[in-house]
Amino acid sequence: MKSKKLTMNIVIALVAGIIIGSICDIYADTSLVKGVDQYFFNTIGQIFLNLIFMLVVPVVFVSIVIGVVGVGDPKLLGGIGLKTLVFFLCTTAIAITIAIVLALVVKPGAGHSDLMKSTEVASYQKTLDKQSEGAEAPANQTFDQTLINLFPKNPIESMTQGNMLQVITFSIFIGIGMMVLGDKALVVRQFFEQFNEILMYIISMIMRVFAPIGTFCLVAHAFTGAGLGAIKQLGLYFIVVLAALILHFFLIYGGTIKFIAKDSPIKFFKGFFPAITIGFGGSSSNAALPVSMECTKKMGVRPAIASFVQPLGATINMDGTAIMQGVATVFIAQISGAQLTILQILTVIVIAVIASIGTAGVPGVGLIMLAMVLTAVDLNPAAIGIIIGIDRLLDMTRTAVNITGDAACAFMISKQEDRKAISS
Ligand code: ASP
Repeated sequence: MKSKKLTMNIVIALVAGIIIGSICDIYADTSLVKGVDQYFFNTIGQIFLNLIFMLVVPVVFVSIVIGVVGVGDPKLLGGIGLKTLVFFLCTTAIAITIAIVLALVVKPGAGHSDLMKSTEVASYQKTLDKQSEGAEAPANQTFDQTLINLFPKNPIESMTQGNMLQVITFSIFIGIGMMVLGDKALVVRQFFEQFNEILMYIISMIMRVFAPIGTFCLVAHAFTGAGLGAIKQLGLYFIVVLAALILHFFLIYGGTIKFIAKDSPIKFFKGFFPAITIGFGGSSSNAALPVSMECTKKMGVRPAIASFVQPLGATINMDGTAIMQGVATVFIAQISGAQLTILQILTVIVIAVIASIGTAGVPGVGLIMLAMVLTAVDLNPAAIGIIIGIDRLLDMTRTAVNITGDAACAFMISKQEDRKAISS
């Protein structure tokens, strides 16, 4: 009953945030709106986000350790890991295929060749030049470096820097050690279990007290600065991305829940709704992680599976991001007057899947990784400057899709394990 009321309050906050933020956007230049935005929307929104962010590293560390111990068998863990990876890769490939097909049919870039000569392209070119002069840009990371970087030299440094993949690797090793040692590590195991209880309590408390006002402020702030006027010019691009996100969300995740997990998609989407709003408000898969794990566990997903699948997904599974990259690539090809060949389209799919693995679950990174996809098919990455202005709202929406994909995977695997347990 309590959680129903909380969900209802979050929905009201979300809608109010969109309406009030859109109104404020019209008057964004007035000092009154500037003041309200800076001192109210942004301040409260950021405090809410920081409160959740504060829990991300401890929650990932503690829950993966007890998740691995909970699976209880290294072989079973390997099986779950493999299934998770296959699901992530396949759904991301499907996501970008839906996006490319839709963009090829609707042609959002047709008749907009003037955009390539705009000042936005020139100014983004400067940003790219600076990036290539300075420290290594994330998009330039080679495959071997990505592999090497999975293994932390100093796990404490990985934690302080919020390097999720390294934290995950370290946690899996500690979990395996604890699992193999059994009772010899009993006290440490109990410590982790009790620490987990504390973290879960803090998350529910933050959600109960802050979620409605925090969501309202985050969304109102995003809409106030979103420059809704800019959407008009790139309207078709915006609509195609949104349509592909919605299609993927309901068809692929709904289908996974209905046909593979054999459960009700409506129940799943409803149960996961509080996490969706945090992903939407904060544009960050990482920030949404503590709440999204709490939601799936409440829906009956085995804690061990949620703890293992969702942090991994928040780091390497980005279907929504891949969708934006697919539509953006076709859009930029169209405004550049380039025809993408079948081979180039396949290249976009493969590179976007790899880029999705390398995209950190924080705001805006998907757009930076888009440079890698564009370069692979000889398109000018400076064209990113054209879509950057309206990316904020799309980032919010694609992040909500990104985290739902992780949750759908955890839900599916957990249901399959439940069925196996009943039949054996
Ligand atoms: N904001 C996205 C996320 O955290 C990543 C991106 O597409 O920029 O999932």
